[in-house]
Amino acid sequence: MATVATPAEEEYLQTLFWLQEAGLAMTGANIARAMQLSAPTVHEMVGRLERDGYITRADDKAISFTPEGAEHAEGIVRRHRLIERFLTDVLGIPWDEVHEEAERLEHAMSPVLEERMLAAIGDARTCPHGHPITAGRRIEGVPLADVETGAQVTILRFENEAEDLLRYLKGSGLEPGMAGTLAETGDDEVVVEHPGGRVAVTRSVAETVSVLADPSPPPRVALPAQLVLGERPYGR
Ligand SMILES: [Zn+2]
Ligand SMILES: [Zn+2]
Repeated sequence: MATVATPAEEEYLQTLFWLQEAGLAMTGANIARAMQLSAPTVHEMVGRLERDGYITRADDKAISFTPEGAEHAEGIVRRHRLIERFLTDVLGIPWDEVHEEAERLEHAMSPVLEERMLAAIGDARTCPHGHPITAGRRIEGVPLADVETGAQVTILRFENEAEDLLRYLKGSGLEPGMAGTLAETGDDEVVVEHPGGRVAVTRSVAETVSVLADPSPPPRVALPAQLVLGERPYGR
């Protein structure tokens, strides 16, 4: 039976959940890419998660959650997204500043506080970056970078919540929920026109933005490197 998970273990469980949610293989190599950590560091922590009963490892190194690990990972991701939504909607903090705060708060939240926060955010069902608070409610999308000129797009989600990237996205004017038309798509830039103006982002950033598009390009699985969750205070 697992003991109480440490914040470092919870960070790894959260990353594994993100990989699974994005349709990526749950492997040590993908954790290392997403968390920007060395292979030996990840290897050690994956061993600890296995010993503590949160995951199992197959012969081909594929990682699976145990029922307890899945429940714990879901809980930490749910609290992270709920805290982000609370910080933006209730406290009025801009959405490019809430991810790192949620990283700190998510490990120390009681069920009672979680219930109160959930009541405080009203009808909101996603974090301010578009990720579903309740597991299993994710709407599949396509990368903005794949959409052809002239298509109608609705911004679903920012897949990568690294602080510098969120700051860039905020500065660009792109918002989850925004609807517009794909005005230009080139080697350097992707431009969306919407009733309030024009938004341009670099092609590499457009790879990390999931949208609904009409007409839609075929679905494509993201790359682990596009899912970098930013600098981590734990597990180094
Ligand atoms: Zn976040
Ligand atoms: Zn978020």
